[in-house]
Amino acid sequence: MDKQMESYIRSIKESYDEYYRETGRRRSALVRTFGCQMNVRDSEGISGALAAMGYDLAADEKEADVAVLNTCCVRGNAENKVFGHIGWLKNVGETKGRPYTVVVCGCMAQRKDAVERIKRSCGHVGVVFGTFNAHRLPEYLWRHFETNRQVVEIWDSHGEALAEGCAAPVREKKFKASVNVMYGCDNFCSYCVVPYVRGRERSRPPGDIMKEVETFAADGAKEILLLGQNVNSYGAGLDGGVDFAGLLEMINGIDGIERVRFMTSHPKDISGRLISAIGRLDKVCAHIHLPAQSGSDRILALMNRKYTKDHYLSLVARLRETVPGIAVTTDLIVGFPDEAEEDFEETLDLVSRARFNGAFTFNYSAREGTPAASMEGRVPDNVVRERFDRLLGEVNGITAEINKGYEGKTLRVLAESRATNGVVTGRAESNAIVHFKGDGELVGEFVDVRVIEGRTFYLRGEQDRGALPHTPARDFVP
Ligand code: SAH
Ligand code: SF4
Repeated sequence: MDKQMESYIRSIKESYDEYYRETGRRRSALVRTFGCQMNVRDSEGISGALAAMGYDLAADEKEADVAVLNTCCVRGNAENKVFGHIGWLKNVGETKGRPYTVVVCGCMAQRKDAVERIKRSCGHVGVVFGTFNAHRLPEYLWRHFETNRQVVEIWDSHGEALAEGCAAPVREKKFKASVNVMYGCDNFCSYCVVPYVRGRERSRPPGDIMKEVETFAADGAKEILLLGQNVNSYGAGLDGGVDFAGLLEMINGIDGIERVRFMTSHPKDISGRLISAIGRLDKVCAHIHLPAQSGSDRILALMNRKYTKDHYLSLVARLRETVPGIAVTTDLIVGFPDEAEEDFEETLDLVSRARFNGAFTFNYSAREGTPAASMEGRVPDNVVRERFDRLLGEVNGITAEINKGYEGKTLRVLAESRATNGVVTGRAESNAIVHFKGDGELVGEFVDVRVIEGRTFYLRGEQDRGALPHTPARDFVP
């Protein structure tokens, strides 16, 4: 660990002020995550740093002495949600009657206008830092405690090293872990802020990734989620010639790990090697999240996606040929500038032909500084709403049909939680949510579940104790 950060961590740990000594209270902190899996992973690192500084992890903002908001800015409403939350934290702080620190970090903090707004009108925010310097949180907190002033530190690139955090991450679930395989993005899809707020694409050396996965495996992780904005271009710029298929192969060999997932794949970079690796490697789940965004070649070109609808559909066909039963999920955007009814119908056609197991559908949101934000042909709100509803109807109808097709089949489920009513919830290999009745001891275990009912958003089943032995990652091929 960075020596300097170590000393800030020690200072904060030792600096129990009078308040804590008098009350005998322990300090607690909470990290609230907005946005994607990458932010969830970053928050685990931030929680780890806070734990190293002596904070317990609080259940909510009202209990916490330090509240960290790890923010998202991919769409306008993500940003509005964050500002709503920052506003609410002001009231929470005012009713507390004890020291309270609000920290804002993550993608939104890389946007100049958002930071200006915090400086101007959110005086109760104590610390602001961005996506490139999260590993320096102990320093920023210390400076804030020392001066009682707002500390704002934003870097515009990753600096001297890949910031891998300054302490061991705190993971919510022992049996699952996420690992970054790369940072940033160089694709510059015309609507997207990610390349601006996460910087240039850079792959982590395979040795570092392996070490991290091995550490998590030794700590009880059975399922690993490999993260990158475009995992298919993993390895570009590294010595040694390891590509993503090669990395999957290496991770597949790690003892203790029973399932491997990855996201996100960009359709322009999927290789035959990757498709066959998914089919061949027993721990790699037969699921791919492959964002299509649109079915119109004209809109795909305006989006700078670098593939056509036909290419996308041929990829889906190859995946299904090579990996029988593979689940394909996607992201779709409605109302991109100049999207005409015919373009939208191409998207509906793509959906009906690709038959996605699930899709995240988004209304296009103009993000300042991206090329699409200054494109002509804004689609009126009522048209966007109407298209969105039609798309959702189509997507959900297909998901429900696919899920009905699982009825009577036995799936391997990693049980993730149990509610007080005795219902255990887990994920099948396809990533589908599965509910079934069971004991609390099942949480963290692989359970064979026979599906009784397939609904749009989940499968309902019962434990199948007579299932034949099969590998933890893989369902029976339908
Ligand atoms: N790297 C991933 C996606 C990261 S962002 C990929 O390329 O697939 C997650 C999703 O948010 C995108 O797939 C896209 O569907 C959506 N998205 C990104 N920018 C958006 C915007 N400006 N408006 C609406 N949706 C957007
Ligand atoms: Fe954004 Fe495109 Fe990069 Fe995905 S690939 S993060 S959509 S720019």
